Amino acid sequence: MHVETLGDGRPEYTILACVHGDETCGWHAFNRLKASDVTLQAPVKFVLANERAFKLGYRFCDADLNRSMPGDASSEQHEVRLGARLRRELDGTTVIDFHSTESRGCPYVIATGGDTASRRLARSTGLDRLVEMSHVGGGVTAHVTGVAIECGYHDDEGAASSAHRILLHFLAAEGLIDRPYVRSTPQVYEVFGDASGRGFEFVAENFRRVEAGEVFAQRNGTVRRAEEPFYPVLMSTYGYEDRIGFMARRVDTVTE
Ligand SMILES: [Zn+2]
Repeated sequence: MHVETLGDGRPEYTILACVHGDETCGWHAFNRLKASDVTLQAPVKFVLANERAFKLGYRFCDADLNRSMPGDASSEQHEVRLGARLRRELDGTTVIDFHSTESRGCPYVIATGGDTASRRLARSTGLDRLVEMSHVGGGVTAHVTGVAIECGYHDDEGAASSAHRILLHFLAAEGLIDRPYVRSTPQVYEVFGDASGRGFEFVAENFRRVEAGEVFAQRNGTVRRAEEPFYPVLMSTYGYEDRIGFMARRVDTVTE
């Protein structure tokens, strides 16, 4: 784990990158912030979580860090040990956690704690969609006040630029830098189930309603039809080994 602080004093905010070692957009966003001439009104902490996996270009070494919280300092698995350290490092700070993904529909916010403080943060990102994943549980941000951002499809320049733009907006809306911003009122997509299955091609579109009976995935001439209407989120052909993605319902918007 690599930790550094910009500014003096005890930071109340953490910019978190590389919870998945091969998703580097948050690291790029932080480096661009550091290289720029913006003045921070308060100190900000940067944490590159899975430094070992990042250096190897891996998503993780032994276990998915995002599924290893709260961690265990005595575990034999790198990420489980790391989870315990990471939790201590994030404790008492507000977290923005940057990811990229193999599914389309970015950028959007993910909240996992189900708490209003985290939902409120979604507005500071300026983004229009919030995926509420408390049903699935886990996730680094489930244990702190914070949100995760899926910045872009693949870990490329597009995701890095998107992460940088979202970071600046977030810091401005939270009063940490002086810059124009407009707090958004994100539409909430609440995950209620997952679509399991291996080797399926996802043929619908994330965040577009799939009607009951509609085909949303196919494999060797067999098809998967929706049993009830839902909104696909994080669905893709190659994103997960044994899952097409998640099913969500559209609920309220975040206005507070
Ligand atoms: Zn990720």
